[in-house]
Amino acid sequence: MRRRPFRRPFRRGGPRRVPPELRRANELMEAGHFTQAAEAFEIIARRADARRGPRAPQFHFRTGQAYILAGKVESGMPHIKKALAFFSARSQWEPLYRFGQRAVDKLNDLGHTTQAEEIADYLSNNLPEKTAHTQRTSHKKATLPTHCPGCGAPLRADEVDWIDDHTAECIYCSSPVRGEY
Ligand SMILES: [Zn+2]
Repeated sequence: MRRRPFRRPFRRGGPRRVPPELRRANELMEAGHFTQAAEAFEIIARRADARRGPRAPQFHFRTGQAYILAGKVESGMPHIKKALAFFSARSQWEPLYRFGQRAVDKLNDLGHTTQAEEIADYLSNNLPEKTAHTQRTSHKKATLPTHCPGCGAPLRADEVDWIDDHTAECIYCSSPVRGEY
């Protein structure tokens, strides 16, 4: 078996190779083909699990989102829970709160109140206290394009990793994204 050399990718600069399957999954999502998008994200999420990729929870969340939007809530819920359990296990309270709350809102919007409650309960049982995660500072930062130029995922200012006030990093493909004031 060929062992891949351990190396930590640079966090900034340079064009990066975005996996075509990620771009494709985002395209399917944008086009409203939610079932196909879910299946595509599921493969990506499983692969990320297998190599213990740091973005596995984000991909499980996308898988869950896509299934829920496709009306397959029961297929989506395990992925949402898996994503939240990842964050919880690593004490990443801020993303746990943010992703969890988004799932709750979306489930409620779509009328899946039982599932929304289930996630809300999970959050209140797992989040330490209503502390830092609710007051993430959103001081004046650059305005980002709506979609990642690398993989096509929608970008949200409160969800990307900011490198500095002008530059963010996509949470799915690590592409640096330059914002504008
Ligand atoms: Zn991206």
